[in-house]
Amino acid sequence: MIQDITAIYHNEYIEQSPNAGDYIMFVKGRNVLIKKNTEEIEFLRYEELDEVEMAFRYLFALDTEEGRKRFFLGEADLLMEDMLKEYSYEQQNVFRTKQPKELAFAGITACQLANWYETTRFCGTCGNGLEHDKKERMMRCPSCNALHYPKISPAVIVAVTNGDKLLMTKYAGRDYKNYALVAGFAEIGETVEETVKREVMEEAGLKVKNIRYYKSQPWSFTDTLLLGFWCEVDGNDNITMDEEELSVAEWITRDEIPTEYDGISLTNEMMMRFKNGEA
Ligand SMILES: [Zn+2]
Repeated sequence: MIQDITAIYHNEYIEQSPNAGDYIMFVKGRNVLIKKNTEEIEFLRYEELDEVEMAFRYLFALDTEEGRKRFFLGEADLLMEDMLKEYSYEQQNVFRTKQPKELAFAGITACQLANWYETTRFCGTCGNGLEHDKKERMMRCPSCNALHYPKISPAVIVAVTNGDKLLMTKYAGRDYKNYALVAGFAEIGETVEETVKREVMEEAGLKVKNIRYYKSQPWSFTDTLLLGFWCEVDGNDNITMDEEELSVAEWITRDEIPTEYDGISLTNEMMMRFKNGEA
């Protein structure tokens, strides 16, 4: 999966400034600045910005075999025009396919953090401008003292099995056309096991039993923490599809599951495990 990298990810916040060699990330919406015309992902380094006045925000570090790599957020509006000859803003989905994997993980994680900073500038309680806390990743309101921490939305991925078959779905009206599993966000006041039952009922009209937690995955593409579950259909296996959300919901045998191992998503890992008879 995208977070399964050999480097060790350090996300603890430390107030610090960049030095030569550090990566400076520039993000606009869901687009991240990467070097043009290269096979592998390359981000801009601090020393390439030597005469630019801008503020930098520390993001995280990766401890790799070559040492510690630190990542900072730069101010995209202050980036010099001539840097855009060598670098361009690429849509976040580039990190689903490009290598090296540790920089793909860094790129999508920086994208989520940048978006949190971008949307956490004013206090939701009193409307005052927020200030950066110096000790942890948190925004503080100097007027009403409200504390704003990163928002992480838990969601479930559900592999519903029926003997030798797996419930597979396709979304309606989305760019992503491949098979998916039942998925959805946890609602306030419910456990994730209840989310599993509710989502399978909403999307496919099925009851489930024997719910087992599998693994989690940070999925920064949608600001989500995904929790994967296995379960079995309970009783009637006739599918009633939610036609607003899905275009396909069907039972697929192990043999029929397409072989498209991507090494990126939890959904894909669970499908491949079932196909290979490991679940
Ligand atoms: Zn406030």
